[in-house]
Amino acid sequence: MDHNLRLRQVQAAIAERRLHAFLVSYLPNIRYLCGFTGSAGVLVITARDKVLLTDGRYTEQAKQEVKGAKVKIVKKAALAAAAEWLKKHASLRRVGFESAHMTVAERAQLAKLIGRSASLVAAPPIVEPLRMIKDAEEIASIRAACQLGVQLFSKLTGKLRPGISESAVAGELEFAARQAGVDQMAFPTIIAAGERSALPHGRASSAPIPAEGFVVCDFGVILAGYCSDMTRTVYVGRPQSDARSAYEAVREAQQAALNAVKPGGTAAEVDHAARKLLYNRKLGEFFTHSTGHGLGLEIHEAPKIAAAQKEVLRPGMVITIEPGVYLPGKWGVRIEDTVVVTETGCEILTACPKDLLTL
Ligand code: ZN
Ligand code: ZN
Repeated sequence: MDHNLRLRQVQAAIAERRLHAFLVSYLPNIRYLCGFTGSAGVLVITARDKVLLTDGRYTEQAKQEVKGAKVKIVKKAALAAAAEWLKKHASLRRVGFESAHMTVAERAQLAKLIGRSASLVAAPPIVEPLRMIKDAEEIASIRAACQLGVQLFSKLTGKLRPGISESAVAGELEFAARQAGVDQMAFPTIIAAGERSALPHGRASSAPIPAEGFVVCDFGVILAGYCSDMTRTVYVGRPQSDARSAYEAVREAQQAALNAVKPGGTAAEVDHAARKLLYNRKLGEFFTHSTGHGLGLEIHEAPKIAAAQKEVLRPGMVITIEPGVYLPGKWGVRIEDTVVVTETGCEILTACPKDLLTL
């Protein structure tokens, strides 16, 4: 990971915005820029300096992890220390902060500490647009996380049977993930069976898997810092024709969206491709969420794959394609892959069969 390059890109972006300094307070952005994975810190970037301020708990860790920036161990809260650092550099008068990630209280505290020596500027996202395009090393990390996800899913299907609780199934999956060396799960595992499969975000509950019905399995791991995300919907018992045809419609909608992923196309076009197919099958009104999202260090990153999103897709973006239909009180189906945008289209990173699996 070329942290120096990333930091130089931020320096160019802040010069363009006529900022003298930029305070990075959002931890995933700090990690992206200098490698630090601790839970407290502020990275101050100017044309000359790149300084990570963190506290004594992280003396050793910061020494090991931080690349491209100086480390300063401070006794007070990192934000207060950043204000102090800025006061000592009186020529830095326009100070940008990450407005999407700072609380009103933090901003007020910062303004008070800085006093009149500088003015605070609410900066738009500066690091997030860089994070949207993954470098080769990041793609390799996400690919490894996705491959592990696929392996875990094939083990999971062996555990799924009527009577076992959703949370026991999730527990088996998460235990196997831990044994395989993940940092943690990327989000609370979704195992939603029977009527509960109609809840798009039905976290695994104590409910038993019924004798008959769909089971939506949506999970992700974080491996060496990078997320995976995939969903497969399986059927316990023998599906009737309406369930089968709904499954096939979702699968075709997902394929239509995958086919629409290409550099130069927009996120909205990808969303539209899935939505149009489901409308044609009279299922459009049951597709109640967006088609996908970017992922990387975080499970939800830019770009959003949704209607009205004009973001143009570029090689190196990693996104999910996850249409679904949900009939309240009856059942739900979702199929999700993580893909990387290539020069010609996309490559599926969660390569795993999508024929309706009946158990
Ligand atoms: Zn998911
Ligand atoms: Zn997702």
